[in-house]
Amino acid sequence: MIETRDVRKNFGALEVLKGVSLRLEKGEIAAIIGPSGSGKSTFLRCLNHLETIDRGRIDIEGENLVATDQAGACRYVRESEVRRICARMGMVFQHFNLFPHMTVLENVIEAPITVKGMRRADILPKAEALLNKVGLWDKRDSYPSHVSGGQKQRAAIARALAMEPDIMLFDEPTSALDPELTGEVLRTMRQLADERMTMLVVTHEMAFAREVANTVVFMDQGEIIESKPAVEFFKNPEHRRTRAFLESML
Ligand code: ADP
Ligand code: MG
Repeated sequence: MIETRDVRKNFGALEVLKGVSLRLEKGEIAAIIGPSGSGKSTFLRCLNHLETIDRGRIDIEGENLVATDQAGACRYVRESEVRRICARMGMVFQHFNLFPHMTVLENVIEAPITVKGMRRADILPKAEALLNKVGLWDKRDSYPSHVSGGQKQRAAIARALAMEPDIMLFDEPTSALDPELTGEVLRTMRQLADERMTMLVVTHEMAFAREVANTVVFMDQGEIIESKPAVEFFKNPEHRRTRAFLESML
């Protein structure tokens, strides 16, 4: 579903991604863990073209998004193709990024109407089903400022799902939440996992990584240090930096 090869990204003189190669299969759930500043968010943002890469290659569902030619020039496919390919990925951010001037329901139906050109009457039944699924139908007419952080994040998940993505990217979806609100968001994500959604999840929730992810990827200083099946990752972390990180999380 996702394949990256030797993805490199600099911000000025700062090398943020130093050659990241990753493969995510259909139905796979991968957790990316690692210290703050290691490039996890940047990597997710490169996948759906919120950032451009400087070198390397990204394929999404077998279609090339960007590749580097022999002369070292990084070439994206044309803009309309970029949009079509990236629309297959839904993204959920740490800080929800809901539209504050729209109700929960309006947040969910906005992109299907403006991006996909769907009619309101056609998206409404689907929005109702999605809001029921994340337990927010009774909050449909509330504005984001009037619901809890956990409810905001569940609304953000429903909004991403309304575009019918094949892959969901999560960037620390519970990090901005009070501890007592993380459970409801993790439960919603677990439900998606049970439905075999392909998911790439940046998280500090080690229990989620251990119990829900198939694969755990440890990133540090712009590189993947270790990537293994979740059970093995926690039982037998090989790299010294992985072990040090896991100990720091206890
Ligand atoms: P993580 O998500 O693992 O905490 P990030 O991808 O957010 O790491 O950041 C990796 C590094 O890139 C950090 O040093 C951060 O300061 C830097 N960085 C991220 N975004 C930008 C940007 N837009 N401009 C300059 N530096 C950035
Ligand atoms: Mg981050």
